[in-house]
Amino acid sequence: MCTPSFEEAVRLVLDEVSPQEPENVTLLDSLDRISAMDVSAPWSTPRYDNSAMDGFAVRAADCVPGTALPIIGYMPAGAAVHPVVKDGTAIKIMTGAPMPANCDAVIPFEAAEEVSGTVRLRKLVAPRQHVRFTGEDIAAGEAIVSEGHIIRPVDIGVLASFGKKTVAVYRQPKVAILSTGDELVENAEELAPGKVMDSNRWAIAAAVRECGAIPIVLGIARDNAQSHRDRIEEGLQADVFITTAGVSAGDRDLVRGMLGQFDVRLVFRGVRVKPGSPTCFGHRGSTQVFSLPGNPVASLIAFEEFVKPALLKMLGHKRVLNPFLPAILATDGCKSAGHAKLLRVRLEQREGMFWAWSAGKQDTGVQKTLLRSDALALLREERISFAAGETVGVQMLNPATAELVDAVIRLTPTTRHGATDIGSVRSGVTSEINIGCA
Ligand code: AMP
Ligand code: MG
Repeated sequence: MCTPSFEEAVRLVLDEVSPQEPENVTLLDSLDRISAMDVSAPWSTPRYDNSAMDGFAVRAADCVPGTALPIIGYMPAGAAVHPVVKDGTAIKIMTGAPMPANCDAVIPFEAAEEVSGTVRLRKLVAPRQHVRFTGEDIAAGEAIVSEGHIIRPVDIGVLASFGKKTVAVYRQPKVAILSTGDELVENAEELAPGKVMDSNRWAIAAAVRECGAIPIVLGIARDNAQSHRDRIEEGLQADVFITTAGVSAGDRDLVRGMLGQFDVRLVFRGVRVKPGSPTCFGHRGSTQVFSLPGNPVASLIAFEEFVKPALLKMLGHKRVLNPFLPAILATDGCKSAGHAKLLRVRLEQREGMFWAWSAGKQDTGVQKTLLRSDALALLREERISFAAGETVGVQMLNPATAELVDAVIRLTPTTRHGATDIGSVRSGVTSEINIGCA
C-alpha cells in the first residue's frame, strides 16, 4: 500500500464519505444543522398590503398640504376588518395592520398633526409611501433555504413565518472515540509515575462536537489484543470510529493489526505529512475508521486535516476544507524531504497581509505551541528550505475566523512579497524561534 501525499490523503478520505441520510427535526433543533432540501415559500409575503408605520392611512390624491382629513376609524395590528375609507378621510393605523381598502399611503405620526378628530397635512404625500405591499418581500415559490445551507436564526424565523414546524436536515454522524495505551489513566484518577492522563479523548470529543457531530467516548483499550477486541467491535457500530495512539511501528502498537482482524479495509496507512504521518484511514461497511497518532498535538492536527473534512461532508456541508490562505513567512524554515510539514504559527496582519511566525518549538510533544497558534502553515513536500519573505499557505485554526479572513484578503488589493523589514514587524520574536528541521 502506497503512502499518499497530504493532498492525496485528504482527497481519498473525501472520496469515501457522503452526506448522511436526512431526518426531520423541529425548527429550534435545526439551528446549525445543514438543510437536506430546498425549501421554497408556499405563499407570497406579506400576504396582504399593510402599514409600515404607526400613522394615518390615506389616499395620496386627497392630501393637499394645509387641509385636514377627518379620522373616521382605527386599525390596530391584527385587525381583520377593512373599513372603507371615503374620499377625503383618514384612518388611524398601527404598524402591520392591513391597509384599508381604497388607501394607498400612510402618513407617519411624526409627519402629521392630529387636531380635534382630524389629521392636518403639512406636505404632499407620495402614493405607496410607508406601505408594505403584498408579495414585495418573498414571492410564492421563491427559495428560502437551499440544500446544503447552514441553518441560522434568520432561516428559522423565515421558516416559522411560513408556518413550518420541522426541517429536513442531514443526520449527525455518531463518532466513537477510543484511546489506546497502557500508560493512560482516566483524568479523575491519580497520576502514578509513568502514567499519562488520557487527554486525547477530551480533545477529540470536543473537536467532533465542534464539527456538529455526536461524540461517543469508548474509554481506553490497553496494549493487548483482548482489550482492543472488546472495544473495536463497539466502535465499528458507529458512523465513524476514531482511535488514537498505538498506530506507529512500536511493538506495542496494535491498532492496525487489530483493525485488520475486524475486516476494516484500509485505504491508506500513513500520510506524507508531519505532524500526523502515522494516520490510517479505512472503513468497514458504512463505518469510516480513522486511526490517529497518540501525541495530543499530532492527533488534533490529523483530526483537523483528515477527520474534520469527512465529518463536515457527512453532515451535509458544501465547504468542507479549511482553505489555505496566503501569508508571508516571517522566519526561515527547513524540513527534511519526503513529506509536507504543517508548521504551527502565529499570525500578524500588516498592510493587509498576514505574516506567519513560528509559534514555538515544533515537536509534536509540545502542546504549548499549539495552544499559542493561530494557524498552520504548509511547507510543501517538494522543498526542504524556506526563506523568510516567501508566501506560504496558512490555515486558520479557528474555523469561525477563516471565512472572515478570506474576505479581508479578497478585499485588500495590496499584497507584499518582500520581507525586508521583518525585524520591525515583531521585534525580538525571531530570536526565540526554533522551527526545527524534522
Ligand atoms: P503511541 O502512539 O502509542 O506511541 O503514543 C505516542 C505518545 O502519545 C505517547 O507519549 C503517549 O503517552 C501519548 N498518548 C497516547 N495516547 C494519549 C492520550 N489518549 N492522551 C494523551 N497522550 C496520549
Ligand atoms: Mg502507545
